[in-house]
Amino acid sequence: MDAEINPRKNLIGLDRDELASELAAIGEKPFRAKQLWHWMYYHGVTDFDAMTTIAKAARPLLKELFCTERPDISRLETSEDGTRKWLLKFDDANEAETVYIPETDRGALCISSQVGCTLNCSFCHTGTQKLVRNLTASEIVGQMMVARDSYGEWPLGKDVPKSERMISNIVMMGMGEPLYNFDNVKKALKIIMDPEGISLSKRRITLSTSGVVPMMQRCGEEIGVNLAVSLHACNDELRDQLVPINRKYPLKELLEACRQYPGANNANRITFEYAMLKGVNDSDADARELIRLVRGLPVKFNLIPFNPWPGTRFENSDPKQAKRFSGILNKGGLSAPIRVPRGRDIMAACGQLKSDSERQRRQKTGLSA
Ligand code: SAH
Ligand code: SF4
Repeated sequence: MDAEINPRKNLIGLDRDELASELAAIGEKPFRAKQLWHWMYYHGVTDFDAMTTIAKAARPLLKELFCTERPDISRLETSEDGTRKWLLKFDDANEAETVYIPETDRGALCISSQVGCTLNCSFCHTGTQKLVRNLTASEIVGQMMVARDSYGEWPLGKDVPKSERMISNIVMMGMGEPLYNFDNVKKALKIIMDPEGISLSKRRITLSTSGVVPMMQRCGEEIGVNLAVSLHACNDELRDQLVPINRKYPLKELLEACRQYPGANNANRITFEYAMLKGVNDSDADARELIRLVRGLPVKFNLIPFNPWPGTRFENSDPKQAKRFSGILNKGGLSAPIRVPRGRDIMAACGQLKSDSERQRRQKTGLSA
């Protein structure tokens, strides 16, 4: 069944100026926008009647015109390792996935930026789903709101002290290429970082790009978050095959953009993500070539065991070889831990997300479900 159309305007995802002008348009003073911001993003309150500092007389009109709606939860799955995956449904019935990965020291929320992806990295499940559309700022912030609601991490909820909250970090590593949806991602992250709301520090946010070189500088300057780059290969020939955006922005340009990334230095390094693909990019020679390639750059490696999905032609590297590979990088002075796969049993690990269910595909192609 299609979601009911909500006639009220959703305030989630508006920046401060937009919120103030919405309220000015109904004759409210700027302080009302400040109050609302605090209720929405500091307390996570959705009911205008629970916003006790807002004059009772002002509430009926607010309720009539506005809402603070989150995306609907189509499905929630929990892995045996505690990883949680939400399939979220937006107003137009499109869906995207959000994943929470618990760590020993709290955990990270993996947020999507698009429904599907225009790029088709050959080892990525998301890449097999066509891009449907960019997510709006509201839908990106909405993923954080859903996760926080779910863990009761608002001060008026279970009153979990900030230092003990489960969601301590955000990784823009879900479905889609965040730098192809720059404006909405920037707007959403600014809302999430705003000190009078959710107030997550930029140091706790990492954005992963497949290598959209022309947007990297702006990402550092205008958003200021940590950067991760999906490298996956030590030469252009192989990277052209694995990460096809390389044909547009080859390694030389990508590495130069990394060298110039604002805020990157030896104390705050860019992460190079490297999926370990058996017999494809995991030889000793590949590791040595990588050391040569990144010499002098403020980077560290994150070796990701390949996460399988139905129909893929790739296999994960032999664990012994992955260890050797990591050891060679270490000897070359590079940090290169092998990541422990999380949430594989619910298809929630890196590169496994996909939201065009069989049912949706059938609907699109006119077949009966
Ligand atoms: N689109 C962005 C972020 C999303 S994916 C990007 O490409 O950077 C997060 C990371 O998982 C990326 O480094 C991606 O290349 C990697 N990845 C994709 N498919 C994978 C798979 N099947 N196994 C392991 N890692 C994968
Ligand atoms: Fe898109 Fe990233 Fe998957 Fe490549 S790895 S297809 S850029 S989501």
